[in-house]
Amino acid sequence: MRHREVAFFEGSFVPLAEANINVMTHAFNYGTAVFEGIRGYWNADDEELYLFRPRDHFARLIQNASLLKMKLPYDADALCDLAVELIQRNGYREDVYIRPLAYKTARQIGTKLSPGDDFTMFVVPMRDYVDTSRPLAVSVSSWRRVEDNAIPARGKICGAYVNSALAATEARDNGYDEAIVLNAHGKVAEGAAMNIFIARNSKLVTTPIYADILEGITRHTVVELARWELGVETDFRPIDRSELYIADEAFFCGTGAQIAAIGSVDRRLVGTGQAGPITRRLQAIYGDVTRGRIGHYRKWLLSCRVTSRSLESASCLAGVGD
Ligand code: PMP
Repeated sequence: MRHREVAFFEGSFVPLAEANINVMTHAFNYGTAVFEGIRGYWNADDEELYLFRPRDHFARLIQNASLLKMKLPYDADALCDLAVELIQRNGYREDVYIRPLAYKTARQIGTKLSPGDDFTMFVVPMRDYVDTSRPLAVSVSSWRRVEDNAIPARGKICGAYVNSALAATEARDNGYDEAIVLNAHGKVAEGAAMNIFIARNSKLVTTPIYADILEGITRHTVVELARWELGVETDFRPIDRSELYIADEAFFCGTGAQIAAIGSVDRRLVGTGQAGPITRRLQAIYGDVTRGRIGHYRKWLLSCRVTSRSLESASCLAGVGD
């Protein structure tokens, strides 16, 4: 079945091909927008697409929008409803990734944050963002993470992702899968678009929120699952670069990355070079949680009810043909 490719743009659902922004738009010129990434997981047995922690993502978007003096005309619940409708109108019955953005709309030359902002959202199919089936070869980037007093990393601000793009590209150009970025103090911050954990002596360690990181929702998920499902506690403290080389295990986590084992850092093996036991158990549990296979954690899921019936009614409502 072909997808309808509908986006939410300027207050209504329109064909994706028509969801276009003028070249003079402030956000395009100066990176003045904040965004989110939300995964939807298709569960073939349930015939359901589940959004993972959408309310938390939208709450973060609303918070971050205020960093750029934007106020969305929707609360987190209304944004969840829009996301479900977006899924239904597109008709996806596979894993997807939703990209909501709040952006400055002024058509002006000049950087100041003038009044005028809007919200848009589109969805694309997505499987792995990084390969989770094998340990990744990563390098410590020569690029430093943007500082809180430059562009707050916790803000998920579009312009700040130039920093991520430089680090991710450098790593790939040098033959690695991904980058780890240090902050201005020389301590580990995170990956280009994911948080990082290491395991030492059967305990997890992740970088603290003052390390110039995004306060990841998957990071929080991992801490909870490690504690309640594995009985493993997490320390939140600065991580030295050299700890990456001697860790028993290391992994990235994020909405896109999910849980991705790190096999080596700067060509030094992490542990045995294979995904370690804590990483593997977390990967398995995370897979079950996100697809709604563990009752207790269904609290984190929002069903999109993408049944044949809702697809039919969505296509009537959408008014945009194939
Ligand atoms: N750090 C950065 C810089 C990111 O872009 C992301 C992806 N959103 C993450 C961490 C992981 O955050 P989350 O788990 O909320 O997706």
